[in-house]
Amino acid sequence: MSAKLIDGKKVEQITMDLLKKDVENWVESGNRRPFLKVVQVGTDPASSTYIGAKTKACNKVGIQTDTTHLPDTVSAKELKAAIRSFNEDDKIDGILVQLPLPSHLSSHDVIESIDHRKDVDGFHPMNVGRLTVDQPTFPSCTPAGIFELFRYYSIPVKSKHAVVVGASNIVGSPMAIMLSRENSSGKATTTICHKFTRDLTTHTISADILVVAAGQPNLIKPEMVKEGAVVIDVGINRIADETSEKGYKLVGDCDFEGIRKKASWITPVPGGVGPMTVAMLMKNTLLAAKKSIYFEN
Ligand code: NDP
Repeated sequence: MSAKLIDGKKVEQITMDLLKKDVENWVESGNRRPFLKVVQVGTDPASSTYIGAKTKACNKVGIQTDTTHLPDTVSAKELKAAIRSFNEDDKIDGILVQLPLPSHLSSHDVIESIDHRKDVDGFHPMNVGRLTVDQPTFPSCTPAGIFELFRYYSIPVKSKHAVVVGASNIVGSPMAIMLSRENSSGKATTTICHKFTRDLTTHTISADILVVAAGQPNLIKPEMVKEGAVVIDVGINRIADETSEKGYKLVGDCDFEGIRKKASWITPVPGGVGPMTVAMLMKNTLLAAKKSIYFEN
């Protein structure tokens, strides 16, 4: 068997084209253009790259955006005061604080200070909580992007055994919640694995759908995967590569070449899940502008 490729770039393009039309219809109906406020603390180059990709995506779909830069010495009080002013600004629809933050700042604390109605990353406990009780919410962007891929390729989820490797607040946990819940077209029987899971293979080998988000290159090998499984590799890892100009290449958490001989569907890295994450951020920002999730003032 050779797995069919899940082409995230193609689905992203289609999604972004639709979003661009939605944004234009929204503006042509007399509404203000949606606005995304990005906050960057410090000058971490990886964060700057991610923000660059988000800004580019905003420009593509017609969402306004700007980035407020704060020094990495900013105090929690100063950062939260800035966020409070963005919460109160009616012209701002979505607020995104680029993670990770410097170690003296608690990301939980900072995320909780964002108005949940503007939390387009879907990280605020209110939005995560609503996800767990099937209420309309801003879903975390990476899992939401994976569900768009399932829908596009008509990959069934209901009644399957889904195994998620990785339990972070931004990928693994919300992914497991969405897989197991009804509103996100889930209802899979779901297992979630983390560093303390004993004998990972006993779980992964029984997965009809295997989602891997551990940040560990080559963690999942062909012998850990069931014949015909759907394999979603979320991991993005830089590994040294002398043949590349940059001196590194990006790989996922799965042995792609080995696993593609066994799986039915597989995402490449790069070009699989990654492109969808930013598209879902655009979707959440438009939802925030339309006040589609929260109606109260
Ligand atoms: P975190 O480091 O926050 O979380 C990793 C999770 O994997 C933790 O729950 C950890 O367990 C678990 N884990 C680590 N090693 C193992 C192991 N050997 N066996 C089982 N579980 C393990 O990372 P993120 O969730 O933020 O990101 C995961 C990966 O996905 C990274 O490579 C990241 O770059 C990538 N990513 C990709 C995105 C995309 O758009 N494609 C978006 C976001 C992330 P424990 O909880 O016990 O520590």
